[in-house]
Amino acid sequence: MTIEIRNPAKPSDIVATYSETDPAALPGLIAAARSAQQAWARVPQPERGAIIGRWLDALAARTDEIARAITLEMGKTLAEAKGETGKSLSEARYAVARAANPMGEVLPSQRPGTLAYTIRRPRGVIAGICPWNFPIGTPLRKAVPALVYGNAMILKASELAPGAVAIMADAARGILPDGIFQTVLGGGGLGAALTDTPGLDGISFTGSVATGRKVAEAAARNLAEISLELGGKNPAILNDATDLDAALNQIYASAFAVSGQRCTAVSRVLVAQDIAQRAIDGLITRAEAARVGDGLEDGITMGPLVSADHLQTVSGFVERARAAGAVIRAGGDMPTHNTGGYFHAPTIVTDFTPDMEIAREEVFGPVLAVIPYQSTEHALEIANAVSFGLTSCLYSEREPVIDTFLSESQSGMLHVNGGTFPEDHVPFVGVKASALGVGGSNGASTQHFFTSEHMVYRKARV
Ligand code: NAD
Repeated sequence: MTIEIRNPAKPSDIVATYSETDPAALPGLIAAARSAQQAWARVPQPERGAIIGRWLDALAARTDEIARAITLEMGKTLAEAKGETGKSLSEARYAVARAANPMGEVLPSQRPGTLAYTIRRPRGVIAGICPWNFPIGTPLRKAVPALVYGNAMILKASELAPGAVAIMADAARGILPDGIFQTVLGGGGLGAALTDTPGLDGISFTGSVATGRKVAEAAARNLAEISLELGGKNPAILNDATDLDAALNQIYASAFAVSGQRCTAVSRVLVAQDIAQRAIDGLITRAEAARVGDGLEDGITMGPLVSADHLQTVSGFVERARAAGAVIRAGGDMPTHNTGGYFHAPTIVTDFTPDMEIAREEVFGPVLAVIPYQSTEHALEIANAVSFGLTSCLYSEREPVIDTFLSESQSGMLHVNGGTFPEDHVPFVGVKASALGVGGSNGASTQHFFTSEHMVYRKARV
């Protein structure tokens, strides 16, 4: 079967075609991965790092090609696609460097003459399953730590935007040993078949909560280690700011970058009553100034949504909010210069209650819900009243407000006086329904996910 990819900015254009992987091939791919992994694990780690470094160099040299594929297939602007590629390569280089850090610990033994210590070994064969919104970012965030710690990876790109992963596979030829990095392509059926095939030692999944639950069930059947990075309903709490304009710029960017299709996008602004009107007006002004269109064109600040289905999903959220009594203050529909692409204007929603769908569920599009609050306690109560816990940000210069936020905001990543953009060399983590057993990006949990722990008791003689 062939997968055809259409340009979301001009859906009549087919921009790429790919061959779908036959699920019947999966056991053979896993067997090939296992045999290649055994040899790869014996390569000294710094040498593995150097080999991966050459792969990253080859990808860096193809930055423009990768970025263009991303824009053509999933729609983000070319500047965003180049930014994603550069950031992903930076994250990957930090992951290589971090793998040279100490692993394991020496412990006092209860037994005379015994040296007790832990060692960590590569876990084995890892499946990586990726969403479409960061077509180079998520695949590199999985493949590079997997390989540098001595594993083999079978990576499934999203069926909506596989171009960057195809370039990763092409660039790996002649650099990475055969079998340690294999890519497969297909939709949910292939993903389910992969996670259900016996022989995987770990599954690293990024995507929606609904799919994450299915992947967790499959991992349980396979007794494979699991890392899930899932959705978010991320709040910005705007309490006070000497420079309100600067705060609004950051909140706007956090909400509408990549057309709001970021797991870390701000989708709710909780704003102190005394500055609520100024904040809402400022966000509306910014939304109305956006230039929505084909991400390849100069001057476009927001590209289309990834697909017709996703456009319908996002519009559905806005329509149901309107029907429930919320007020759509900007956007709410297609921009007037719609050219048949899956465009949706940046949308500001107000006058809703925290129990409404728009306040609780992930929209994953350019829709920002703004709600005033009375006190810090009230703000955190609203912020925490969702099932997700990925990232949150607070704008305040008051120490007690900051302290309360840092101890009580239920999210994995906490930003104070900054937007919800993660850095390259740090852990990427979530709580509640946003993550399980995380191992993404660059943290201790990454090392733990991609290696297994072994306890050694060593004596010179009996
Ligand atoms: P999705 O869950 O629909 O699909 C993700 C991947 O899973 C795709 O490759 C898909 O083919 C595959 N898949 C589908 N059904 C499967 C099954 N039964 N078994 C195995 N694999 C299956 O998600 P999406 O629409 O591609 O991406 C959007 C979601 O991803 C949003 O919820 C977003 O918040 C989340 N996301 C999270 C992060 C993070 O790091 N926390 C990053 C990016 C995106």
